[in-house]
Amino acid sequence: MHNMVTINDTTLRDGEQTAGVAFTADEKIAIACALAKAGVPEMEIGIPVMGPAELEVIQTIATLGLGSQLMVWGRMCDRDLQAAAACNADLVNLSIPVSDVHIEHKLGRSREWVIQTIRDYVGRAFDLGLDVCVGGEDASRADTEFLLRVVETVQAAGARRFRFADTLGLLDPFSTWTRIKRLREISDIEIEIHAHNDLGLATANTLAALRAGATHANTTVNGLGERAGNAALEEVVMALRHLYGVEAAIDTRRFPAISRMVELASGRRVASNKSIVGDAVFTHEAGIHVDGLLKNPRNYQGFDPAEVGREHRTILGKHSGSRAVIDAYARLGLLLSDPEAELLLARIRDHAVATKNPPTATDLKRFYLESADCAGSTVMPL
Ligand SMILES: [Zn+2]
Repeated sequence: MHNMVTINDTTLRDGEQTAGVAFTADEKIAIACALAKAGVPEMEIGIPVMGPAELEVIQTIATLGLGSQLMVWGRMCDRDLQAAAACNADLVNLSIPVSDVHIEHKLGRSREWVIQTIRDYVGRAFDLGLDVCVGGEDASRADTEFLLRVVETVQAAGARRFRFADTLGLLDPFSTWTRIKRLREISDIEIEIHAHNDLGLATANTLAALRAGATHANTTVNGLGERAGNAALEEVVMALRHLYGVEAAIDTRRFPAISRMVELASGRRVASNKSIVGDAVFTHEAGIHVDGLLKNPRNYQGFDPAEVGREHRTILGKHSGSRAVIDAYARLGLLLSDPEAELLLARIRDHAVATKNPPTATDLKRFYLESADCAGSTVMPL
């Protein structure tokens, strides 16, 4: 893995393309500012041709001096190109289908038309003063030899980058690696991986592409995006750090706040078990795990949650052990003997099964008083 990986976050473009998601101008600006503050080096901020309102918010973001490179998205047609040129963005992604199924059944065109269109539009974008990334839509289903020709054309035309879009999320890490490796062998322009999560492989495919020589990774906060979404920013950045020792130069402690901001703006709840930012991913209940964590956190942590601004949390439930019960009651100021902890543990397990929730502090005090009433208390306040 080379050490130069650049994150290009597309929460504000592909993330917003999620069915039913629409950010307000203020939300887009706030998300852009939060990403820039965290050090995200590039972000794709919208589709200028959507109209004056979208254009205005893109232009506003471009005037903020955020320090991140700003990309806008368009298709290879005059309207999109003209709209992109009005944005003051650093880079335009001009998208064109490259699979035969899209070329024939979506565009009604030929491979030769695609090659000629790339030549024309990269040149015209240059004439308008734009720096260009050519987005290869549905690249994962493209004929391999044709895709190589596309990338050679992109490079010869003077574009700075080719975006390999696994538009339907159909690749696995092995096929991703093979395809990106071929492109890397015949070209030295930037290659960006744009992975979708339809089979739950977006982050794995992104990492595979980077290992094969891709230089840029398209991500979204919380993995937001069309259908099952895109590779998640927080997953890609943390995996790069912990699997490959590659720093994306992003302040990962800001991830929870950014995740929450995007969750609220998108109206898409983050699953409690979502990697890195899910509510429950640093919460422990099982007796063996809690005991191990209390002895030494390294027993049961892959990385320190403080890296992402979080901490371990323990809750009591069906799988708790008596040590966790003693610990929880001690925090309430009550010292339990082992037999008393066992008695209360049985009560806590009943509660967890009946309510599907951990007991609150109020519940624990009630259990304690009830058991004291039954047994004649020997529990000593601390
Ligand atoms: Zn996409």
